[in-house]
Amino acid sequence: MYDQYNRKIDYLRISLTDRCNLHCRYCQPEVSEHVPHNEILRYEELLRICRAALQLGISKFKITGGEPLLRKGCSDFIARLKQMEGVEQVTLTTNGTLLAQQLPALIAAGVDSINVSLDTLDAAYYTELTGGSLGSVLQALQELQSAGITFKLNCVPLAESGLTDIMQLLKLAHKYQAPLRFIELMPLDCNADLKGLSGSEIRSQLEQAGLQLQPDAQRYGNGPASYWRIGGYKMPVGFIEPLHNKFCAVCNRVRLTSVGMLKPCLYCNEGMNLKRLLRDGASDADLLQAMQEIIYAKPAGHSFDVKAARFNMSQIGG
Ligand code: SAM
Repeated sequence: MYDQYNRKIDYLRISLTDRCNLHCRYCQPEVSEHVPHNEILRYEELLRICRAALQLGISKFKITGGEPLLRKGCSDFIARLKQMEGVEQVTLTTNGTLLAQQLPALIAAGVDSINVSLDTLDAAYYTELTGGSLGSVLQALQELQSAGITFKLNCVPLAESGLTDIMQLLKLAHKYQAPLRFIELMPLDCNADLKGLSGSEIRSQLEQAGLQLQPDAQRYGNGPASYWRIGGYKMPVGFIEPLHNKFCAVCNRVRLTSVGMLKPCLYCNEGMNLKRLLRDGASDADLLQAMQEIIYAKPAGHSFDVKAARFNMSQIGG
């Protein structure tokens, strides 16, 4: 469907859980409260919402979290979603730590591609930044390649880590021929002590290091990244810059939080409580109308550039 600014909305990000086995410093505070299990949308409820979304012309779904692979039944849910008529694509974003063991089930479910979040190849810094261990993520990448599954790498570049990390990630992405995307740090209350790097800062650092960069007009996936080619590297490199290259005018997505709020924008207080509707016995027509209303009212743009957001990214499903 089209929203009030005539943007075609065809992409829904579904957060399966607010829980994560990592606590990346830029994403959530070290200690965060979690919602009780019965407040999380059940799979049947999620599928009902997806059915309505399909009727509204949403055909691409991204499964996210928290860490989606922490939730039992994630691949069964993907399998059921993939079987729905009209579904074009179901993809997953994960920190990769639990991926190796769940990959066979995800492949059997028909997942279309996987994004792995990876910010550094320095094992000690990885642990400092995320609280997790790098080895399991590297193993998952190996398994993805062996299985022939399309994947991308996502990195939130921080000023404190700098060019060395970026160069190592470029080499890793080159090895796997996997698109590498740099997602600009979005300011949250929990990450006020961190400074991100913008796309142009990264590009100029790469140029200063002697690399040649050229814009690549092709799009790789459903995201708002602008892509570049770097001399000597086989894969495209994308920059997703919500602050320095605001893409709200072409935003095609809405988000469903794990507690059932349908949010027309990552950074907005408005949302439609679909869980309440469903648990109060709403009909399919009521559900459809409620979703249509909130999607239509999608705001013109986000406000990250005005004020840091008070939520954790893992609560909304970044
Ligand atoms: N756990 C999964 C993962 O790691 O991909 C899915 C959830 S995570 C919140 C989704 C993405 O949001 C990750 O790529 C993460 O790096 C990104 N992210 C989290 N906080 C962010 C922030 N403040 N600014 C930009 N990206 C952020």
